[in-house]
Amino acid sequence: MNKTNLNKAADELAESLGRDKVIIDADILDKYSRDETSGMSQLPAVVVRAKTTDDVSRALAICSKYGVPVIPRGAGTGVTGGAIPVKGGVVLSVEKMNRIIEIDKENMFAVVEPGVITKTLQDAALEHGLMYPPDPASLDICSIGGNIAEGAGGPRAVKYGTTKDYVTGLEFVLASGEVINTGGKIVKNAAGYNFIGIIVGSEGTLAIVTKIYLRLVPAPPVVIDLLIPFDSIEEALNVVPVLLQNRIIPSAIEFMEKDTIKLVKDLLKEDIPFENAGAHLLIQIDGESRENIMRDLDRLNKLIHTKYEILVAESKNQKDRLWKTRRSVRESVKNASSIFFGDDTVVPRSMVPVFIKDIKEFLNSKSLRSAIWGHAGDGNCHINILKENMDDGKWSDLVPVIKKYIYQKAISYGGTITGEHGIGLTKKNYLELAVSKEGIELSKRIKAAFDPDMIFNPGKIF
Ligand SMILES: Cc1cc2nc3c(=O)[nH]c(=O)nc-3n(C[C@H](O)[C@H](O)[C@H](O)COP(=O)(O)OP(=O)(O)OC[C@H]3O[C@@H](n4cnc5c(N)ncnc54)[C@H](O)[C@@H]3O)c2cc1C
Repeated sequence: MNKTNLNKAADELAESLGRDKVIIDADILDKYSRDETSGMSQLPAVVVRAKTTDDVSRALAICSKYGVPVIPRGAGTGVTGGAIPVKGGVVLSVEKMNRIIEIDKENMFAVVEPGVITKTLQDAALEHGLMYPPDPASLDICSIGGNIAEGAGGPRAVKYGTTKDYVTGLEFVLASGEVINTGGKIVKNAAGYNFIGIIVGSEGTLAIVTKIYLRLVPAPPVVIDLLIPFDSIEEALNVVPVLLQNRIIPSAIEFMEKDTIKLVKDLLKEDIPFENAGAHLLIQIDGESRENIMRDLDRLNKLIHTKYEILVAESKNQKDRLWKTRRSVRESVKNASSIFFGDDTVVPRSMVPVFIKDIKEFLNSKSLRSAIWGHAGDGNCHINILKENMDDGKWSDLVPVIKKYIYQKAISYGGTITGEHGIGLTKKNYLELAVSKEGIELSKRIKAAFDPDMIFNPGKIF
């Protein structure tokens, strides 16, 4: 990057947006050098904290003029390196654009700025008897803009789908600074190309999202959680198609194998329910009334065979106790090894048992400690491998071998290399496996149409 141009851009940004929004203080820049991706960071030259669409538009026009890279950033919780400024340049943070503009109860829509934290929106919708269903496990700390850029999912995808299923309108800013509006509070829209479909999952490489229209649904009046322990992961996973084929559609079906349960126990240092079981299924069922749910529960009891008791949680305290283990999984891996490889491959639901078995055997053959959990209801498997005491060189050589094995296996079973975390930096060398050479060429042509000078998030996706 041309340093003179960067300095000119920094001066012009401060002049145009005001010095308070343009940061060059090294201590503050440090926070923007990383996200939640293990072992990666790079300092930006400048951080812009935009407060309005106009700030974003002016900042982009200036960066375009000087050919300076721009890295859009939400809350920095991404786990594939999407918000890391690998080529330096300007991090453009929308964390201060965090207003819920409107909850329209009558039409069942929310209109929000991108920096709104996902849980804040969920709580606001609930006050109106409505639900915003996408629920990434990071919902307390991640932002809606980041969810859109990554196509985030979560446990409730099995019944309610992912972020992409709720976006009905967007305002976004192109690299040139032009502001585009598409869709709105409308359920149907057949006017022209589907820009929303292109922007959702574009990982900050095409445009900066500045306003979002989201569909809401009526909040289910009753929600009950169940913890079902099993002797083995195969036994647990084999239950999933049986439930769905028998018209029991839980809002979440999460699985956790025994090595994960052990890591959580090591982290929490307290008794956790059924800590010696071979696997856990954590199931959430929601519905119109307790009576309806209890009827489903009766049927579920007849369909599931396990020697263990099924724990049923109805109160907030009981539910928190059941979900505490699941919510602690990522932290428990970090606790055991600050450097680790985390993945979110997806396969068709019916292939999860054989996929997990293959992966576990492969990792055991390499004497690698791993923890696997995921969303059994939608086939999304989180495979985490711990570096522990391995020397850095051996680890760097091993990670690409592991990735290739996992991704090729997932694709051979009809799956793909990411279900919700995106490609970012950590999977870009493997995208061709998933979308083909021709698919990558087409993606590059789409990028050129949105971002002809290639200033957005260089080094990501492909
Ligand atoms: C403990 C933990 C649990 C997690 N669980 C889940 C999970 O269950 N499901 C899941 O899907 N993810 C999960 N994640 C990953 C992460 O939280 C999601 O990817 C989330 O969507 C990122 O949002 P963010 O606001 O932090 O985005 P950031 O990390 O700031 O950015 C992510 C990407 O989006 C781009 N971006 C951000 N805002 C904008 C914008 N306004 N316009 C254009 N581009 C933008 C950035 O350039 C970057 O490429 C988890 C992460 C952690 C740490």
